[in-house]
Amino acid sequence: MKKYSVENLDLSQKKVFLRVDFNLPLDEKNQFSDFTRLERSIPTIDYLLTAGAKIAIFSHLGRPKAKETRLSLQPLVEVLAKKLQKKVVFCPSMEASFVRAAIAKNDIVLVENTRFHPEEKSMDQSFCKQLAEIFDHYVNDAFGNAHRKEASNYQIARYFDTPACGLLIKKELESMSFLLQKPQKPFIAILGGAKLKDKIAAVQNLINLVDYLLIGGGMAYTFLKVLGQEVGNSILDEAHFSTAENLLKNYSEKIILPIDHIVATKIGNPVTQTKKIAEQQMGLDIGEQTIALYKGLVAKAKTIFWNGPLGVFEIDACANGTFSIAKAVAASNAFQVIGGGDSILAINRLQLADKIHHISTGGGASIEFISGKTLPAIELLKDLK
Ligand code: AMP
Repeated sequence: MKKYSVENLDLSQKKVFLRVDFNLPLDEKNQFSDFTRLERSIPTIDYLLTAGAKIAIFSHLGRPKAKETRLSLQPLVEVLAKKLQKKVVFCPSMEASFVRAAIAKNDIVLVENTRFHPEEKSMDQSFCKQLAEIFDHYVNDAFGNAHRKEASNYQIARYFDTPACGLLIKKELESMSFLLQKPQKPFIAILGGAKLKDKIAAVQNLINLVDYLLIGGGMAYTFLKVLGQEVGNSILDEAHFSTAENLLKNYSEKIILPIDHIVATKIGNPVTQTKKIAEQQMGLDIGEQTIALYKGLVAKAKTIFWNGPLGVFEIDACANGTFSIAKAVAASNAFQVIGGGDSILAINRLQLADKIHHISTGGGASIEFISGKTLPAIELLKDLK
C-alpha cells in the first residue's frame, strides 16, 4: 500500500495542516511522563519546515468530554520548541478564526487538544471545511489514531486533493505491508496479553501468513482449556471457545502453546513453576521450558511480529517470560516488528529498542492493520501510483 507522503508534496511557502499523535502518557501528578511519541514526529516536522512550509500541528490528548485544563497541550509548546530549536506558538482553540490568525503570523503553531471541541467527534462539516480552507496541504502522521474517524484525522482530510502521510506513517505502512505481503520465511508471530477477544482478528489473519504463531499471556489459557487441560482459575474467554477450537483443529501444527507455567493462587501471591496447573491456581507467566521452546523458534525466524506480554510482567515474579522473549526477539537477525504498549515498554526497559527494525507507535491501529482491516484515516490518503 503506497500513499502520498510529505515527500510528494510541493511545500515551499505552503500552509500545512499536520495531524500528529501527541497523546502522551500523564503520571499521577498530571505531568507528561514519556515523550517518545512527540519525538517520533520530529522528522516529519523538520522535513516540512526545511521544505519551506508553515505548519499548524493538531493532536488529541486523552478522552476529555469538554475542556479540561489537565489535558491541555500548552505545556508541550516549550518541549517542542526545545526539540526543534525554533519558536513555537500556541493556538488556544481549533476554531478556524483562531487558527487562521495564528498561522498568518507564525511558522509553527501548536493547536490546543482537538477533543476540547465537540466537532472533533461529530465531524461537523462546516467546522471542518472552514478549517481546511486555511491550508494548502493536509498531512497525517498519527498512526495511533488511524483506526478512528474524527475531524482532524479524517473529515478535514477529505477537503484536500492530495492528503498525505508523514514520514512516521510512511514507515509504519512499509513495515506492516511487508509483513502482510512478502514476509521472509520462517515468519513467526508472538501474541500475548490478557484477552483473546482483543487479538482474535489478528490471530485469524496472521494464521494464514505465519509458519508459527506463538501464544502466551492470558489468551493462551482459552486454547489450553479447549484442548482439555486443567487451567484452574486462569483468565478465560469463554465467548471464543469455539473459535479457538476451530483454529486448533485447522492449524494445530502452526499454533504453539505454553508447555509449562508460572502459577499462583492469585496475582501477587508467591509463585511456583509447573507443567500441570492445579484447580486453585492461575497461570501468570510462561515457564522455563516454554521460554526455551519459543526462543528456539525465534532464533530460526526471518520475520517476527510481536504484540502483547507473555505474562503479568508488571509483577517481577511473572515477568521472566516477557523479558526473555523481548531479549530473544532483539537478538534475532530477522526483520522484527513490535507493536503494543506493553511489548514496547519491555523492549525499552531492556534498552533494546535500537535492535528492532520497526516499533509501531499504534497499539490498536497496528493490531487492526495486522488483522487485515482497513484503517479509515489511512484509506483516504491519496494513493501513490
Ligand atoms: P493487552 O492489553 O491485552 O495486551 O494485555 C496486557 C495485560 O495482559 C498486561 O497488563 C498483563 O499483566 C496481562 N496479562 C498477561 N498475561 C496474563 C495472564 N496470564 N493472566 C492475566 N493477565 C495477563
